Amino acid sequence: MSLVDSSVNDLKLLLPDYLEKYHNINNLKHFFHCFNPEHIDRHPSMRYFEKGKVCKCFSCGVSYDIFDLVGIDYGLTSFKDKVSKVKELYLNYVPIVNEKKEQVYEKHHDYSKYYKKCYSNRYKSDYLLNRGISKELIEKYHIGYDERYKQIVIPINKNCYFARSVISNFKYKNPGRSDIWNKELLYENNINNHIYVTEGIIDSLSLEMVDPNIKTISINGTGNIYSLVEAIKESNYNGIIIIAFDEDYGGITASKKLKEELAKININSFSVSLSSSNECNDINDLLIHDKSKLENNLKSLEQMLSPLINNLNNKKGEEFCLE
Ligand SMILES: [Zn+2]
Repeated sequence: MSLVDSSVNDLKLLLPDYLEKYHNINNLKHFFHCFNPEHIDRHPSMRYFEKGKVCKCFSCGVSYDIFDLVGIDYGLTSFKDKVSKVKELYLNYVPIVNEKKEQVYEKHHDYSKYYKKCYSNRYKSDYLLNRGISKELIEKYHIGYDERYKQIVIPINKNCYFARSVISNFKYKNPGRSDIWNKELLYENNINNHIYVTEGIIDSLSLEMVDPNIKTISINGTGNIYSLVEAIKESNYNGIIIIAFDEDYGGITASKKLKEELAKININSFSVSLSSSNECNDINDLLIHDKSKLENNLKSLEQMLSPLINNLNNKKGEEFCLE
């Protein structure tokens, strides 16, 4: 099914799906954190309304349809751009039957067999190799390829994965809450640790391509910053978090929000820029176009950080910004 010719009203119906896939909101009857970047919503006060296909915030009063939300997430202001973005995201949209969906939520589905099958087909697509990711990393992280849906499948844990189409921009997250990719690193607890957190798993893989010893995790979508905060609390991680999100509006907003949340739990964080001023919007883009530039950016950042990190260990909950 292609939505390229769909009307604006048809596209509006995709909001519940968008909330689920891109913001990991599984139960539309529950409240969730407001998407208004101006509103720091400590207690979830936004809800989805079937009538009108909008989400409304009971605290700040905003009301968003899918176009408003895509505008916030991707930093788009014109209505035309927002409509094209929704079409792009849903180019290969296959609606999920509702009944089936609820079953999946109830018993956390174990995808181990699916991963194994995809892994055995990992080189049937050269998508990741073309994006500069080595076979070594593909194998280290058990990344596979789903021939039927023509997508790269990156396991996050046995119950959740991230998939990315190799023929369109479609990204898929399995139903259910998405976890943090490479989360185990948070459990290597050492006050001198610093972990890079990226928006997308492919960005993390790109960093590892230029520094095999880097510690990097990915939140897998800016809607997922609260999952990271929870994971940090759970692991008792007490090192430093270096936020390397995309340098678009959505990334900058999410990075600001994440820094505030980390400060509340006494975690020091820096937000850094690894790809800007190179006309590349994200880390993978820079890896593809100028690998040595990315390598140098990371090296000089590390040099700049190390005295700061040493000084920081007595102060907790500070926010820093290095641009
Ligand atoms: Zn609000």
